[in-house]
Amino acid sequence: MTFPATRDAAFERLDGFLPHAGADYAQWRNHHDRDGAPTTSRLSPAIRRRLISEAEVCARVIAHHGRAAATRFIDEVCWRSYWVGWLQARPAIWRRWRDDVASLTAALDTDPDLGARHAAAIAGQTGIDCFDAWIAELRDTGWLHNHARMNFASIWIFTLRLPWQLGAELFWRELLDACPASNTLSWRWVAGLHTPGKTYLARAETIRAMSGGRFAVTAPLATDAIVPPDAGLPAPMAIAPADRIEGNARIGLLVMSSDFSLETLPLPRLTAVAAPETVSADLSPLRADYGETARADAVARAVLLAGVAPDRLDNDHMVEATRAWAARHRLDRIITADAPVGPIAARLDRLAPALAADGVQLLRLRRAWDDVAWRHADKGFFAFRAAIPRLLALPVGAIC
Ligand SMILES: Cc1cc2nc3c(=O)[nH]c(=O)nc-3n(C[C@H](O)[C@H](O)[C@H](O)COP(=O)(O)OP(=O)(O)OC[C@H]3O[C@@H](n4cnc5c(N)ncnc54)[C@H](O)[C@@H]3O)c2cc1C
Repeated sequence: MTFPATRDAAFERLDGFLPHAGADYAQWRNHHDRDGAPTTSRLSPAIRRRLISEAEVCARVIAHHGRAAATRFIDEVCWRSYWVGWLQARPAIWRRWRDDVASLTAALDTDPDLGARHAAAIAGQTGIDCFDAWIAELRDTGWLHNHARMNFASIWIFTLRLPWQLGAELFWRELLDACPASNTLSWRWVAGLHTPGKTYLARAETIRAMSGGRFAVTAPLATDAIVPPDAGLPAPMAIAPADRIEGNARIGLLVMSSDFSLETLPLPRLTAVAAPETVSADLSPLRADYGETARADAVARAVLLAGVAPDRLDNDHMVEATRAWAARHRLDRIITADAPVGPIAARLDRLAPALAADGVQLLRLRRAWDDVAWRHADKGFFAFRAAIPRLLALPVGAIC
């Protein structure tokens, strides 16, 4: 199974999938495959890094099928924007998850029962055929079908009685599309921590049907969904206003891996371009390789767009490396695409005051798609759906 790791390959994948993005998608999307052929686009690793944007994907699908026939596919793309917006207003959920992972990982050594059940699960030795096969598939490909993810998470939480936070951590390390919002919040949704009173309980007959009989699922699955403990939902925070570029200056572009759609950013004349390395010791080699290929593609495109050779910034010393880069090119401002809650936004948060101390402004260009989505993701998805026509009416490259 391959996933497009360049912008051109993402458009090619989308164009190949277009005929299936209408009625076929609505009918088959929950099936893991259809006579061996994919039932979904498998674009998520590319969309996650915005090698291709949600706006571009929706525009092409609507041009092919019309709005009505594409509803189901557009809704799914917008689930992503909803999750990102929802987390944006509640960053404490992300921080809490990171803290929980640290303490639960330590508990694996001190609690032998938890440690043994966790070890069996991640080794694919639970005796639950679908679960053990999905672990292997996740490691081999860096991807699982959405229906497999829901059932994997449900079995992890309710049948194996493992903490959802450690399951989300496994996905975070392994998935090529690992996304702070979609991953954390989907796990919480399955666990019953997102929508009060709503859990997702895996059922053997549904797994058999949706996997086309690939799994027998004879091992017993939980019949009760006991909602795990949780610190509760923080009150939503106001979304900060977007930055704007004003006046002329020596400007550098920082290419971050949350948004590689440089072609649809309104770029001013650039003095310098830099793209930090994306490799991190915590990630699976497959995910790290995918990220580096996508970064190399963005760097190559940046050369064509800006007419300057990009500089590489040391990942481990990003703040110091960026300050030195700004000083070398005598930059007044650095622009970058705004990043939603997650490790990249945290880096930008650390970078901004350090640059400001040197008299360099860090400006985050926010896409209008994100601004509208983030402001409408304060309740449930069904309330958010009312904003989808506004998202679709935005020009593809619009920023705030
Ligand atoms: C426990 C769990 C963890 C998940 N973790 C992630 C994650 O880390 N990153 C991620 O991108 N998705 C995540 N998802 C959502 C979903 O499973 C994937 O987006 C989808 O499987 C990607 O396959 P596709 O590209 O073929 O999707 P398609 O069905 O072709 O949909 C097109 C695009 O819409 C978006 N999308 C589709 N379904 C969803 C959904 N349910 N939620 C959010 N966005 C969606 C994706 O960007 C996807 O590429 C998770 C779901 C679950 C249940």
